[in-house]
Amino acid sequence: MDYDVIIIGAGPGGYVSAIRLGQLGKKVLVIEKKYLGGVCLNEGCIPVKALVYASHLREKVNYAKKEMGFLVKDEGFEIEKLRIWKDRVVERLKRGIETLFKNYKIEWIMGEGRLIDKNSVEVSFQGEKKVFTADFTIIATGSKPLSLPGFEPDGELIWTSTQAVSLSKIPSKLIILGAGAIGLEFAYIYKNLGSDVEIYEIMPQILPGADREMAEELRKVLTRKGIKIYLNAKAIGIEKKGDSLDLILEVDGKEERRGGEVLLLAVGRAPVFDGIEPGRIGIKTDGKFIITDSQMRASIPNIFAIGDVTGPPLLAHRASKQGIVAAEAIAGLDAKFEPKVIPNVVYTEPQLASVGISEEEAKEREIKYSIGKFPFIANGKAVSSGETSGFVKIVGELNTNKILGVHILGPEASSLIGEGLVAMEMSGELHHLADPIHPHPSLCEAIMEAGENFFKKAIHILN
Ligand code: FAD
Repeated sequence: MDYDVIIIGAGPGGYVSAIRLGQLGKKVLVIEKKYLGGVCLNEGCIPVKALVYASHLREKVNYAKKEMGFLVKDEGFEIEKLRIWKDRVVERLKRGIETLFKNYKIEWIMGEGRLIDKNSVEVSFQGEKKVFTADFTIIATGSKPLSLPGFEPDGELIWTSTQAVSLSKIPSKLIILGAGAIGLEFAYIYKNLGSDVEIYEIMPQILPGADREMAEELRKVLTRKGIKIYLNAKAIGIEKKGDSLDLILEVDGKEERRGGEVLLLAVGRAPVFDGIEPGRIGIKTDGKFIITDSQMRASIPNIFAIGDVTGPPLLAHRASKQGIVAAEAIAGLDAKFEPKVIPNVVYTEPQLASVGISEEEAKEREIKYSIGKFPFIANGKAVSSGETSGFVKIVGELNTNKILGVHILGPEASSLIGEGLVAMEMSGELHHLADPIHPHPSLCEAIMEAGENFFKKAIHILN
């Protein structure tokens, strides 16, 4: 065999797995057809967060002007400069992966991989085709935006996240279909870049599946920021009109039309199987995603699958952990992908971060629960930073006081959720959040006080 392991796809699943395999002394070949770092680094997590950061800075500057006497002019964005800065962020991180690959002696080829059989992959690169063999193959080919019939993206009037993140233009009016994380993050960005933004969601709440109270609070905050959000709105068609379009909707059984310059489709993602076609060599799927065991082994024992091709939640940190598990399993270690919880973050400002179950899920499961809550408006650090929207909500089991879910809408929620995450991973109880002395002033005191509120003893609110 040419290699111990061939990995197809260098997203956060594939490249992380390659590095772990390198650490374990394996000879690895990574095949990537487009870009090191995958969707996450090039079109998703990182560039989107860079743009959210820029958008938030603009909000902060305006706040400082209005409330703190800053003498600054807000004349919008030099969009070309913003694009260059965002691309530099991506390039810097990409160079980091290349350096790590070099240090761990991981070989990689820019080309499209085609799985031939359980030990061979054909690679097309630079006009040539070559077959490489390995003892193990890891499929890490990721996902792409889901299209809807009649709403096929054309890159001009109908965008996916790929065009939205490229900042090719700032539409005067952007219509977004879908109020999931991706739709909301782009709504926040484009609103701050100067677009008029409307979101249409077929379900009765934004972020379907999220804790309803948290989602509703985020909806209110975004609405206050000028983003128009319409729920229970089913898109049934589109009419292109030169350089603009009409979105046709069904609302309460009636047809409505809404005009816009660009429509952004943010209705979900589908696995990428170009060159893989699981059925062709007998890899089992559930009809959509590859089925694996807890070591990420597919139905053919020396083929592994990790990341978005294995189904929801489609998240980079899940892909990376699966990549590590697959690498360690290949190296004969006793690794399993059996996470107790996987955190989820919506990177609007304020951010919404969650781990564990929602209040609705506790009800559905007929768990006897209670809630601990604390608003950021009563937290000294939040007030002194001018970031008072949102609150912490903890769902805990009555009698045992076990933490069932931690939900944070507020500043730095993506970092704060780490506290709930570690507590839950260690099967923590509410007093593990409420009792430790937290630094003052800090945002994490809001978690402590939400924990105290569960026991009706928070200091800075009425319990
Ligand atoms: P991908 O990142 O999709 O990588 C797969 C790679 O395989 C690609 O580089 C592709 O070119 C390559 N490939 C495919 N087929 C072949 C082939 N035949 N031969 C060679 N190469 C091939 N997740 C988060 O956790 N946090 C976030 O904040 C977040 N934000 C997001 C924002 C947006 C706009 C989008 C679109 C996604 C976001 N995600 C986020 C999701 C995250 O990007 C994915 O879950 C993650 O990238 C999945 O990693 P992966 O390794 O499975 O696949």
